[in-house]
Amino acid sequence: MKYILTSENYNASLKKESMVGDTIVCDKCKWSWAKDDAGDDPFTCHKCGNVNESAQSDKLSTEINKAMVKIDDSMSYADFASAVAKVLRDEYGSHNYEPFMEVLHKELGIK
Ligand SMILES: [Zn+2]
Repeated sequence: MKYILTSENYNASLKKESMVGDTIVCDKCKWSWAKDDAGDDPFTCHKCGNVNESAQSDKLSTEINKAMVKIDDSMSYADFASAVAKVLRDEYGSHNYEPFMEVLHKELGIK
């Protein structure tokens, strides 16, 4: 497993471009708050509900999309989902499924 997602590197992966010191600034409405006061969900704006994405996730989504277009520019969502599942299973491990799904659902607005 190359990318074991411990809570330590999970927090590191959440380092935001929108983060100034310990203060998080919403990309959408510019509301800001202290990270330490934000509870379990420090990157969701409490004013407008926007989930502030990290510079890393922006970079990764660009690369994923490039890779998909390279393989098949009309990649089916089933192939995409299966590929994500394979990475989760083979590289992250089942202990990360639940927190992964939590973030995914939040990003997509699925309750
Ligand atoms: Zn906001």
